[in-house]
Amino acid sequence: MKQAKITAYAKINLVLDVLRKREDGFHEVAMVMQAIDLADTIHLKEAQRNWLHTDNRHIPPNMNNLAMKAVVLMQERFPQVKPLEVTLEKRIPVAAGLAGGSTDCAAVMLGIDKMYNLGLSLGELEALGAELGSDIPFCMGGPTALATGRGEHIEALPHCPALYLVLVKPSFGVSTPKVYGNLRVDERKNHPDVQACIDALHEQDAVKVIDSMGNLLEQSTFELQPEVKALKDDMISAGCSHVLMSGSGPTVFAAFADEAQAQAYYQNIKNKYPGAIFARTVNQNMLEERVALL
Ligand code: ATP
Repeated sequence: MKQAKITAYAKINLVLDVLRKREDGFHEVAMVMQAIDLADTIHLKEAQRNWLHTDNRHIPPNMNNLAMKAVVLMQERFPQVKPLEVTLEKRIPVAAGLAGGSTDCAAVMLGIDKMYNLGLSLGELEALGAELGSDIPFCMGGPTALATGRGEHIEALPHCPALYLVLVKPSFGVSTPKVYGNLRVDERKNHPDVQACIDALHEQDAVKVIDSMGNLLEQSTFELQPEVKALKDDMISAGCSHVLMSGSGPTVFAAFADEAQAQAYYQNIKNKYPGAIFARTVNQNMLEERVALL
């Protein structure tokens, strides 16, 4: 019986810029995306019928789960793929701006590709993933990439030098459509500098990468949920000058080039935010070992 275990990494946006609202209603974005070692674990096992087990009550426990949508899409395209039991150990907070659902979806597709020797190229996997969501193509590859269009066009970037991160997810979620709806992109002045981040990645300069971080959606989320702005201010006061919201929020992260500094900050922030998470950027080795056949 075929089985696989896959590590599904979360992402943060080092830079998120929104260029314009398109005629189709979507927004044109330019984002530097980075995989981090906060991850869900997914087990795939052949079974009598498609079946999902999950330990998280905040996600759909049925075929609406993105992990199951990935199973069904792969079965439709590749008839050799048998019914699968999916066990999802969720560690990535839900509706957090960390692409938790998208990475589970990508991980299931990667696992099925390997279990059934489908031999799909990264481009083919990205195209399949794009059918289910704009953040999914990035989650197929990584660990560092430029995402454009609606976020589904992926261009690999030099891997980010190691960064150490402390993430805090407020107890509430935010609606991504509402954040974009409130954006009024033509009125926004302080666009982040995507090119400065790309240059810093080419120079492999972690401090410059951190200096270039920015997110145009912050202001929009702050207007809708002032608690996110208060959290960011609090995290800055706790001793980090490079604090940013990820995606449309509400997770906020503090970034460090130095691991010891990040650890000291984490120990401190945990007193006030017990759910704070310590993470680091994912490197190529970690990505290559994501899928294990059992
Ligand atoms: P993004 O950063 O891509 O906008 P997010 O981190 O904000 O995503 P998710 O955690 O992916 O948000 O959750 C978004 C929605 O997707 C939630 O309403 C959740 O119920 C649904 N969902 C479906 N499948 C999953 C899954 N496997 N894991 C998490 N959420 C899922």
